[in-house]
Amino acid sequence: MAGKAAPRIGVLALQGDFREHIASLTELGADVVPLRRAEELGALDGVVIPGGESSVMDKLSRTFGIAEPLADAIRGGLPAYGTCAGMIMLSARITDGIAGQHTLGVLDTTVRRNAFGNQNDSFETDIPMPELGEDPVHAVFIRAPVVEEHGTDVRVLGALADGQVVAVQQGNVLASAFHPEVAGEDRFHRRFLDMVRSA
Ligand code: GLN
Repeated sequence: MAGKAAPRIGVLALQGDFREHIASLTELGADVVPLRRAEELGALDGVVIPGGESSVMDKLSRTFGIAEPLADAIRGGLPAYGTCAGMIMLSARITDGIAGQHTLGVLDTTVRRNAFGNQNDSFETDIPMPELGEDPVHAVFIRAPVVEEHGTDVRVLGALADGQVVAVQQGNVLASAFHPEVAGEDRFHRRFLDMVRSA
C-alpha cells in the first residue's frame, strides 16, 4: 500500500471466527478492527462478516443495534465480504433458517443453510475459480450454505463440480460459502481489499 494509508477494515466480532479474518487481513497490510457497535461503522473502508452461526449472529446484531446501520452502510456502497454464516447474513433470502431468522438482505441471493446435511457437513475441496487466478481455490466447508438462486446482477465466482454455487459477487458485496480465512487462501481477502481500494 505504497504511500497510502492502509484501508481500515471492520470485522464483525459478535460471534464466530472473526479472529481468523483479522489475522488474514492484517497479514495483507490492512488496518483491522473488531466491529461491535454501529458508531464504529463511520470510520471503516470495508467490513467482513465471519463464519460462525448465522442465527446467533443475526440475534446479536439486532440486539446490539448494528444490523440495520450495517445493512444501510453496505447498501450505500461500503464494501463487504462474508464467509459461510457471513454469506447467509448478507443474503436477501434464506431457506432452512430458524424461525424468525433475519438477514441484512444486501445480496440478491437465496441461500440454503447447512446445505450439505449431516453426512458430509464438513469437507475440503479444490475449486477452479479463474477470476481468482490460475490455481484452484482450496475451499474448506464447515456446515456450509449454498446459493440456490441469484439475481442477474450476481456474478458467480465459483461452483462445485455438480454446479452448486459457492462464491459470488454483486457490486460491493463478496461472499463465499467456504472459509478462506482458515485455509491459508488469501485471494478472496486480496480481492476484497482491491474492491475497498477502488470503492
Ligand atoms: N451452519 C452455520 C449457519 O447456519 C454456518 C456455519 C459456518 O459459518 N461455518 O450459520
